[in-house]
Amino acid sequence: MNTFDFKNPTHIFFGKDSIQEIAGQIPEDAKILLLYGGGNIKKNGIYQQVTTALKGRDVIEFGGIPANPEYAVLLQALGLIKAQKIDYLLAVGGGSVIDGTKFLSAAALYEGAEPWDILKKNIRTLKGLPFGTVLTLPATGSEMNSGAVITRKETQEKLAMGGPGLFPQFSILDPQVIQSIPERQLANGITDAFSHVLEQYMTYPIGAALQDRFAESIMQTLIEVAPKVLKDPTDYVAASNFMWSCTMALNGLIQKGVPTDWAVHAIGHELTAMYGIDHARTLAIIAPSHYRFNFDDKKEKLAQYATRVWNITEGSLEEKAQKAIDKTEDFFHSLNIATRLSEYTSNYEGTAEKIAQNFTERGWVALGEHKTLTPDKVEKIVRMSY
Ligand code: NAP
Ligand code: FE
Repeated sequence: MNTFDFKNPTHIFFGKDSIQEIAGQIPEDAKILLLYGGGNIKKNGIYQQVTTALKGRDVIEFGGIPANPEYAVLLQALGLIKAQKIDYLLAVGGGSVIDGTKFLSAAALYEGAEPWDILKKNIRTLKGLPFGTVLTLPATGSEMNSGAVITRKETQEKLAMGGPGLFPQFSILDPQVIQSIPERQLANGITDAFSHVLEQYMTYPIGAALQDRFAESIMQTLIEVAPKVLKDPTDYVAASNFMWSCTMALNGLIQKGVPTDWAVHAIGHELTAMYGIDHARTLAIIAPSHYRFNFDDKKEKLAQYATRVWNITEGSLEEKAQKAIDKTEDFFHSLNIATRLSEYTSNYEGTAEKIAQNFTERGWVALGEHKTLTPDKVEKIVRMSY
């Protein structure tokens, strides 16, 4: 096992009607900015629960953070934070609202002239404005990690940021929120969480037995609950297992002490920036090609995954490993998620070259767990996914 340090300070409140807990978690005298997305929280009762819990408190609101949180919109919120001397942020939404709030937490205390530099120059945030979250969409794990991904339409960029100052102080996880999530977003959530586990697990084996089994159990749980959640989002048992699996998939625990990959996310972000494809779907497009292209490096772990997660016991190590990739792709299809770029856009020619060029320009010339994935290899993987 590799050397690691691990600290996760986010206080989780999990369960039915846990939204009321926010009142006790935000300092009495705080000037709060409540941040949300396109307004679904006003239709499904979550906004009502939040405002009831915050009755009598000093709260102003900023709505309209879009999916794939947009820099230009976040700058408007930043102006409000400064003008109103906000000292506590409350994100009520999915990964987009939570990530946008993390950017604001960092940018509010950032002293440079151009907040985009936090992303462009990869400046880690050691201290941000304090914030909490009410999660409305299980998927990203953002509610219990310190990373965020921000989009800038103007330049077709989608970049990541983070740092130990960007953990939410608390996050509310009420599985009942999934009742109003459309099927497309439920499928996205399952796919994103599953891909998070794969990115941290599907590397060369280094004998991290417990991390492997944590990862495998999260994937097994997601496979088991996926059809139940899609069939009946009011099934509380399925909803709670789904929600907690998504959080555990990316709260740092399973990535400690192991090499991690993250190339699928790095490439996937480019597809969202170029074509606006939902984040999770970009991962389903890239992952099968990535594992097929890097087969020799990953075949031992792929075979372990085949046996332990998909119960494939017959065949050689290579055959099991191949079948595991096919099973993964079938799983995405079972969620109605297409796994070819050409199924999302007819304009895909040139995508591989463009992504390779972007990576070269940014100096991203060594991705993956071995730092051997060069832009020319990335180009081949993307072309395989057409
Ligand atoms: P999202 O973009 O936050 O939300 C997608 C859609 O679902 C929105 O239209 C939203 O509506 C709706 N929605 C959310 N909760 C709902 C509910 N309870 N009922 C009905 N509709 C609901 O989706 P996401 O998948 O959670 O986040 C994706 C973003 O997170 C991407 O930008 C991705 O790159 C990023 N990400 C971050 C991390 C991380 O660790 N930080 C990891 C992976 C991905 P409203 O707009 O009305 O809220
Ligand atoms: Fe993701």
